[in-house]
Amino acid sequence: MAISFFKPKADAVENRPMIDLRSVNKFYKTAVGDYHALSDVDLQIDAGEFVSIIGKSGSGKTTLLNMITGIDRPTNGEVWVNGTGVHGLNENRMARWRGKNLGIVFQFFQLLPMISVIENIMLPMDFCRTYPMHERRKRAMDLLELVELADHAHKLPTALSGGQQQRVAIARALANDPPVVIADEPTGNLDSKTAESVFALFNDLVAKGKTIIIVTHDSGLAKRTHRTALIADGEIVNEYVAKAMPTLTHNQLLQASKSAKAHNYEAGAMILSEGTNAETFYIVTHGTVEVILPRPNQSDVVALQLGPGKVFGEMEFFHEKKHRASIRASESGAVEVLAISYDQLAELLEQSEVTREALQQMADKHNGENLSWRGVSS
Ligand code: ADP
Ligand code: MG
Repeated sequence: MAISFFKPKADAVENRPMIDLRSVNKFYKTAVGDYHALSDVDLQIDAGEFVSIIGKSGSGKTTLLNMITGIDRPTNGEVWVNGTGVHGLNENRMARWRGKNLGIVFQFFQLLPMISVIENIMLPMDFCRTYPMHERRKRAMDLLELVELADHAHKLPTALSGGQQQRVAIARALANDPPVVIADEPTGNLDSKTAESVFALFNDLVAKGKTIIIVTHDSGLAKRTHRTALIADGEIVNEYVAKAMPTLTHNQLLQASKSAKAHNYEAGAMILSEGTNAETFYIVTHGTVEVILPRPNQSDVVALQLGPGKVFGEMEFFHEKKHRASIRASESGAVEVLAISYDQLAELLEQSEVTREALQQMADKHNGENLSWRGVSS
């Protein structure tokens, strides 16, 4: 496999997010030909973020995690974790690098059954020699205290309940104090009460500064992380599209993400002007835009500020197809918006009556507000 080993400049490394996937593709060879499991995946996660990955079974979640952990390699594209190009590491360096930089937690715990709980936790330290021999047992014990299982240190893993085994697995993931913890359906095999205690533990780790990625089927848990990445058919759905139209199905969201075009504006730049023809629906993805209403014989007024995940242009889609407000990037910083043409929006709403109703309600509300602002001014 030909992967060019790109060495970024020192400052590029410092500016890189903790996890940075660039145009990652993964093809699996199968009897019936290549299967495209990940398609042009771009994903950036900053240090200290708690990110959930959701998506249907078979959508590519585990494949994505395997790219980050180096358990498997992308067919092409780049994967950077904590400043290291994981796509360029050879097998020898990979295992040692992974041991120091990543803690990995699996759905079925995967503790070694023949050795005690505390020995399971010491194993990664022995492998990476991150701590002097005489400190390893003490550190393992401290980690067991952290997950509230110190009393069980000398038992075999099978003597513990599922939830307890998963907490041991988390303690083991922390053995070498990695900056990043990756967990594939860590609560998938646990009842909801036990799942809650495992989730609470992840929350504690985030508070201590770890970067955490969990794949989960539980949308309730996903909502409680900082950010959710939705994957459908091997592609990442734009998270702001998902936020703006939460009632679309995964595949409709993917369709919307694909039809959207990104536009960038400098701070303070005009995005569209009152009175012009409206033909596009917009979703804010970065920065803040201001909705500005002109008032006769008075200065313009900023009626609304819209941040990431908020939309504009929906009012004109349902009402008069002329802009009744100007939209400007706020002075506070650069803005990115996604543009979806009214034709494409109509096609989407055709497929989702609930989304149509939600957008229509928003449009009606904004229409009323727009009229009353104008009424106030006249
Ligand atoms: P998820 O974790 O979201 O359920 P996976 O990442 O495990 O999905 O799999 C994504 C798709 O890739 C599935 O259709 C799966 O069958 C396929 N796949 C996964 N691993 C392999 C492999 N080693 N060889 C061929 N196909 C695979
Ligand atoms: Mg999976």
